[in-house]
Amino acid sequence: MNYRHSYHAGNFADVMKHVVLVALIDALRRKPAPFSVLDTHAGIGLYDLSGREAQSTGEWRDGIGRLLDAPADPAAPPCIGEWLEIVRATIAAHEGRLFYPGSPAIVASMLRPGDTLTCCELHPEDQRSLRRLFRHNPAVSIHGRNGYEAITGLLPPKQAKRGLVLMDPPFEQKDEFHALAKAIITARQRFGTGVIAAWYPIKHRAPTHAFHNALKDAGQRNLLALELTLRPPLDPTRLNGSGLLIANPPFRFEQTARAILTTLCLHLGDDGTQANVEWIVPE
Ligand code: SAM
Repeated sequence: MNYRHSYHAGNFADVMKHVVLVALIDALRRKPAPFSVLDTHAGIGLYDLSGREAQSTGEWRDGIGRLLDAPADPAAPPCIGEWLEIVRATIAAHEGRLFYPGSPAIVASMLRPGDTLTCCELHPEDQRSLRRLFRHNPAVSIHGRNGYEAITGLLPPKQAKRGLVLMDPPFEQKDEFHALAKAIITARQRFGTGVIAAWYPIKHRAPTHAFHNALKDAGQRNLLALELTLRPPLDPTRLNGSGLLIANPPFRFEQTARAILTTLCLHLGDDGTQANVEWIVPE
């Protein structure tokens, strides 16, 4: 396990994923019944962007760096402002130092009384950091387990009938797309009403098409793909874009998703940046 998210935290892909995450939690919060979130690949939850790892790549500068400096945009969907508030509150809580909240910290900040978050993190060191971060928060539980394997045991959630599963694997393994497709299918078999958000890299087209087709061929329905590409995905050695596959998206989520990606394109993109929201399989 060589992947460390601290090198990439706050980059354009994190921004896209985290804004969409806020929009999905907003949709769950529209109803009073409690919800549960399962974060299968949680990371450490909090990233010091002034630290050695983040500084060595500087990826955050073209992600959160661009949004923090941007003037407020009244046309932007509300979830972008909500996410920025969470980021700014995190920075304020660290006396102005550039700390960036990862997915577990974002979700934890949005839980209401009765809502819960369950995290899986396999890396022993990252798992310890995550436990330390949430040691005083009884709504959050941490499992030092393989997030894919844990799906069978942790779904459906015991605490609530509604919820979200975030799958954000590091794509270190050659067969990660295959593992992700399998995990989505298993998660839906066990938690049919749950919303699933699965992140995937867009380097070149063949693997992302194969991923979508594998889900289609398995008879999966109600699949929306959100994609932001910084440049045409032609060079398989570069992260050219970021994708999120949403299974069972909330009602009319494609409109929210389009508004999010259109705004993010303006901030994160240069010439050649494209946003696409597409039903891979409709309901
Ligand atoms: N979701 C996090 C966020 O948005 O802040 C970032 C997660 S990072 C992309 C992927 C994480 O998954 C890494 O911290 C890595 O150690 C962990 N990991 C890798 N394989 C795993 C597995 N099979 N099960 C659980 N965690 C795993």
